[in-house]
Amino acid sequence: MAKARIRKGDKVMVIAGKDREKSGKVKKVDFEKNRVIVEKLNMIKRHTRPGMGTQGGILEKEASIHLSNVMLFCDKCDKPVRVGFKILADKSKVRVCKSCDELLDK
Ligand SMILES: [Zn+2]
Repeated sequence: MAKARIRKGDKVMVIAGKDREKSGKVKKVDFEKNRVIVEKLNMIKRHTRPGMGTQGGILEKEASIHLSNVMLFCDKCDKPVRVGFKILADKSKVRVCKSCDELLDK
């Protein structure tokens, strides 16, 4: 997954939808569907019925967000940024911030 723009554990900012301009940590990336789950963002409420060992009530959980609706957040720029790629001397491929050139993989 060297080419992935967004990875698990990244700090991202949502750029569209109801949670626009909120940021959070990526919990899960679905590369097949190009969707990510971001901690505490894009929450949806599920009503559950009591029974089968559950109490029932309202369960809140994160719904996935399309990759095109999130941008990686650069701590140095303090804003969401575009991601670039760079090949290091040891041939490993790393992600860099296109604004400040800071390495995003540490
Ligand atoms: Zn930056």
